[in-house]
Amino acid sequence: MNAEIIAVGTELLLGQIVNSNAQFISKELADLGINVYYHTVVGDNVGRLTSALEIADSRSNLIIITGGLGPTKDDLTKETIAAHLGKKLVYDSEALKSIEYYFEKTNRPMTENNRKQAMVLEGSQVLPNDHGMAPGMAVTADKRIYMLLPGPPSEMQPMMAHYGYDFLLSKMTDRENIVSRVLRFFGIGEAALETEIDDLIEQQTNPTIAPLAADGEVTLRLTAKNGSISEAEKLLDITEAQIRARVGQFIYGYDETSLLEEAMKLLKQQNITIAVAESLTGGMFQQQITSVSGASKVLKGGVVCYTNEVKSNVLNVSKEIIEVDGVVSEVCARELARNVATLMGAKIGISFTGVAGPDEQEGKPVGTVFIGLHQEGKPTLVKQLLLGGNRDSIRNRTVKYGFYLLIKRLSETQSAE
Ligand code: ATP
Ligand code: MG
Repeated sequence: MNAEIIAVGTELLLGQIVNSNAQFISKELADLGINVYYHTVVGDNVGRLTSALEIADSRSNLIIITGGLGPTKDDLTKETIAAHLGKKLVYDSEALKSIEYYFEKTNRPMTENNRKQAMVLEGSQVLPNDHGMAPGMAVTADKRIYMLLPGPPSEMQPMMAHYGYDFLLSKMTDRENIVSRVLRFFGIGEAALETEIDDLIEQQTNPTIAPLAADGEVTLRLTAKNGSISEAEKLLDITEAQIRARVGQFIYGYDETSLLEEAMKLLKQQNITIAVAESLTGGMFQQQITSVSGASKVLKGGVVCYTNEVKSNVLNVSKEIIEVDGVVSEVCARELARNVATLMGAKIGISFTGVAGPDEQEGKPVGTVFIGLHQEGKPTLVKQLLLGGNRDSIRNRTVKYGFYLLIKRLSETQSAE
């Protein structure tokens, strides 16, 4: 495959932003062994984008276009490519559902031009957008592959690294076998992770190691090439073992999974029920659990104990703790976790108390969070965190940490048995 990357956006031509998307995509394609011969940049203009496409058609058989998939008037990439290829735009029901869900969740009215984002080229394979609304897509026409990706790097990078990469991998049947595996990390930052495995990344040739950070999580994608698939798998096993020896405690899963999914799987497998006491997260943890089908086997119930009153009256946290240690404290998290488990008759109680901001509380800085995890017959664990970011990101990361702690606890149980 000979590839060309077309970045669409007048702000690129004006020098307001750097074409970092082309750099990222080039690295991904290099990882797959695909030759990239041209980077093109073109403004938000139908005529000039069409001529860029005509030129690309004459010299490339994989054409990747980024930018202009949004809802506004200047976003014209899809329409221009549809006209160029003589293909219709059709609604993708999955994408429409996820856009509708996004507006429901954020309680904002949805307008007609948002619906436009769910339109895809007919016959294309949709690349889901896990970090925004506009889906990407890949379509084959005249023996060429066209891949459309959104402009914002926070959306484009994870889409390309997971869905786009897998799509291209599936098209490369005629060459050496390429096998890839994604290791998912939580509780360690991208910089710290890269430092730990710096030398492995430096030496990498086969398998290659590609780090990517998104939403407080880091992934490493390992890609191995070999004439035989089982040999390629073995190469991946060796590299994975080297990585595990250094940072294995932060790995929670493989490929397309999530902290929520892994925690739910373990809870179901081990037949464990949980109860939740939520202060700063206001029910978010339980909301996520109930988004998974079969949640009733796992979740007994919970209390949103936002005020001190509810913490003491409903969850029996003593006045002394509240007055002496405060509600943002290790002892309070411990009491909440234990008492909510007793109250709901659950095997595990988990609690969240902390300062989401913007103001400090009890003299504790914004981002101070305590998560309690109580389990019958085990020492109660309390994890203290100091999270950065705004109110939303503190609350979201707290919820993720909760699932991470559950995974840690339940996988200990599993390996001890
Ligand atoms: P949106 O839904 O945000 O409108 P979009 O798919 O329509 O997304 P654009 O409108 O083209 O994309 O770009 C949105 C933003 O993404 C830009 O303002 C810029 O910050 C970033 N961006 C776009 N193209 C690139 C690029 N090639 N390299 C780096 N950043 C880019
Ligand atoms: Mg746009």
